[in-house]
Amino acid sequence: MTKLVVPIFVTTAAPAITAMPLAVAAGADMVELRCDLAEASVIRQVLAARRKIKLGHGHLGVILTIRSATEGGGFVGSDDTLAGLYQQAMLGPDAPEFVDVELQVWRRSPAIRNVLTNATGPQGSSGSQLIVSSHDWTECPTDLDAVLTTMYEVHAAAIFKLVWKAHSILDGVRALALYARHAAGDARQFLCLAMGEPGVISRLLAAKFAAPFNFATAESQGGSAPGQPSLAQLKNLYRWTSQRKSTRVFGVVGWPVGHSISPVIHNAGFTAIDFDGVYVPLAVEPGYDKFCAALDAIRQCPGLNPGGVSVTIPHKHHALRYVLERGGTMDDMARHIGAINTILFALDGTMTGLNTDYAGALIALTCAMGVDQSGLREKQVAVLGAGGAARAIVAGLAAWEAEVTIFNRGIDKAAALAGEFNGRIGMVCAVPMERLREHVYDIYINCTPVGMSPNTTASPVPDDIPWNRQTVVFDTVYNPHETQMLQLARSRGSVVVHGVEMLIQQALLQFTGFTGQPAPESAMRQAALAALNIG
Ligand code: NAP
Repeated sequence: MTKLVVPIFVTTAAPAITAMPLAVAAGADMVELRCDLAEASVIRQVLAARRKIKLGHGHLGVILTIRSATEGGGFVGSDDTLAGLYQQAMLGPDAPEFVDVELQVWRRSPAIRNVLTNATGPQGSSGSQLIVSSHDWTECPTDLDAVLTTMYEVHAAAIFKLVWKAHSILDGVRALALYARHAAGDARQFLCLAMGEPGVISRLLAAKFAAPFNFATAESQGGSAPGQPSLAQLKNLYRWTSQRKSTRVFGVVGWPVGHSISPVIHNAGFTAIDFDGVYVPLAVEPGYDKFCAALDAIRQCPGLNPGGVSVTIPHKHHALRYVLERGGTMDDMARHIGAINTILFALDGTMTGLNTDYAGALIALTCAMGVDQSGLREKQVAVLGAGGAARAIVAGLAAWEAEVTIFNRGIDKAAALAGEFNGRIGMVCAVPMERLREHVYDIYINCTPVGMSPNTTASPVPDDIPWNRQTVVFDTVYNPHETQMLQLARSRGSVVVHGVEMLIQQALLQFTGFTGQPAPESAMRQAALAALNIG
C-alpha cells in the first residue's frame, strides 16, 4: 500500500513534536522530517518523540531528510558535517525508518556514502532504509534513462525517488510512464513525482502505480507545496485506498479545470457502485496541438489504463476533431453540434465521442415539464445566447421539433447559428435581443453567463417579461443555484429549471458511457449539490 507522508519542517523541537500527532490524526501513515535547518540534538529529540506516537501495531514511521542548499534545500554546512548529522541520527533505538539522500550528494561525498552504506540496509547498524532522490527544479530531465542508470548504481538504496518541475500535463504523464521503464530496469521501489499544478496527476495516481509513498499536506485544502494535494483530498476525493494497478483512469480535460466539480461527481459515482475507477483533473492549455499532444500521451501512457475523459472549455471542438481524425466514431447529433464533451476509450484503442450536454439539458427540461422529449414538439422556445451551450441545446430542441428562436446581443452570431440548423434538423430563427418581449414563448432558456457569480444581480431578461404559470424558464447558469432570472420566474409562478440539473444529467450520461452501468443518481446528485453548497 502506498503510504501517505506529511512533510514537517524542523527547526526547533517543540513545533515538530506538536505537528507529528496532528499529521497522524489527519490520516498520515508517516511523516517526513525535513531537518535542513535543525541541529543534531533537535533531530534526536524529535526522533525520540515520534516513537511514543502509536500508529497501527507500531509507532509513527519517519523519513529523515536533510537537503543541501546546493540541491534545493536549506542545509548550508559541508558534506562532512552532513555525514555527521546522519550518523548521529541513526545511532540507537530512535533511528528513522528511512533516510533520504540526494543522488548528487551521494556521488560527490565519500563520507556520506560511508556513513549511509554502513548504517542502512538489512545488514546496516541502524535498521534504516536508504532513499536516493534526484530533483530537477527547472524541468523534466531530457535523458531519463541516464538518470535511472546513475541511480541504480547506488546499491545501498532501497527506494529511488525522481522528482522534476512540470511545465505541462505532459510532464505529469511522463512521470507515470516512467514506472514501467523503471520496472523493466530494476526491482527496487520507485516514486516519480512532477512538481507543480501541471504535474498533479503524478501525485493523484501514485497509489495506482504502487509507489512506496506519496507526499500530502495535513491541511484540509492542501497546498504547502504547489500541486501537493491534502490527505483529505487524496483519501476522500481521489479514492486513494481503492486505487490499484487495474484501476481505470478518467478525467476532465479543460483550461482551467481547478474549479470543476466533475471529479467530485464521478468519484462519488464510482464509490457508490464500487467501480474500479478514479477521475482526476487534466489541465490542458488552449490550442488543438496541445489537446492532441495531451490526449495522445494519456492514451499511450503504459499502465495508465485510461477509460475516457470529459471535455470542457476550450476543447469541445478540438475533441470532436481529434476523435474524427484518429478514426473514432460519434453519432450524427454530435456531428451536427460540431462539439463533444465526452470521449470514451475502449480497451482495443478505439474511441467514441459523445455530446451529453444537449441530452442532459433536454432531460433536465422535460423532467421539469413532466413530459418526454416528444412533448417538446411545436413548443416555442426562446434561447438566449449563441455560444457553445446554446449550440448544443438548439440542436437538441430542433431535432425534437421545437420551434426555436435564438436571441443574442450580437445578431450575426445568432443568425449564423440559426442558419446552420434551420431546415436541416428543425425550425430555428434568430431575432435581435431588443425584441425579446414582443412575443410570449412557451420556454425560455438562458445560455449566456449573465447572472453568474459574482454578477448575481444581473439578469438576461427585463423585469416586465410576460411570464405566467404556463411558462417554463431554464437557466443553464448553476452558480448561484437560483439566479435572478429564476427568482423572477418563481415570482410569476412559472416552471423553474435549474442549471445544476443539466450539469447532473450530463454527468449521469457520461458515467454510463464510462462504466457501461446505470449511474447511481442519488449519490452523484448529493455529491454535486454538496460541492456547490446547495442545501
Ligand atoms: P460561450 O460559448 O462563451 O457563449 C456565451 C454566449 O453568451 C455568447 O452568445 C455571448 O454573446 C453571450 N454573452 C456573454 N456575455 C454576455 C453578456 N454580458 N450579455 C449578453 N450576452 C452575453 O459560453 P457557453 O459555453 O455557451 O456557456 C454559456 C453559459 O452556459 C456558461 O456561462 C454556463 O453558465 C452555462 N453552461 C451551463 C452548463 C450546465 O451544465 N449547467 C453547461 C455549459 C454551459 P456574444 O456572442 O455576443 O459574445
